[in-house]
Amino acid sequence: MKIASVLGVGAAGCPLSALMLPESALAADMVPLRLYSPHLQKGYNVELFVGSQWNENALLVCHYLMKDWRKNILVPCDRKLYAALYVIQRKFGIPDPINIFSGYRSAETNAMLRQQSIARNGGRATAESPAVNSQHIQAKAVDFMLPGVPPLTVSKYVQTLGLGGTGNYPTFTHMDTRGEPARWGRGL
Ligand SMILES: [Zn+2]
Repeated sequence: MKIASVLGVGAAGCPLSALMLPESALAADMVPLRLYSPHLQKGYNVELFVGSQWNENALLVCHYLMKDWRKNILVPCDRKLYAALYVIQRKFGIPDPINIFSGYRSAETNAMLRQQSIARNGGRATAESPAVNSQHIQAKAVDFMLPGVPPLTVSKYVQTLGLGGTGNYPTFTHMDTRGEPARWGRGL
């Protein structure tokens, strides 16, 4: 399938258009997407695309790195997230892999994290607390960090991609593909 059609957008709205490259030019100019999961202590370089097509094997590796590591549940996440991570990697040109802190979360894990956040904040939820209907439960969100790049710089760039929600946190950026814009966190 064509990347743009999987993303459900026209070429103009495709995150890859942020590269200023037509899809046909991608094959000649492709570098691996480099991802690392501190929780799994695993990292992989994946060839996300073969020409203008998705590489299904690479997607499986990405899903693995995005799994609910607390419960060991693997769910296919929205591949728009991976395309966006690729665009972000290209934008900032970092030498080290993008760190994936959280991708898919089971409802149980999300509820546990929400309770922990509420407990830390004296019994109330804040804008930074995991939402009851978090996009992470829908497998449409990723919390990530680019080594050496301030999260706010990354978060501001994520907003320009127009995929959905952006959350800025002290040590990471939340990005989701809910479709309508949403933002929270200091500086956004
Ligand atoms: Zn998040």
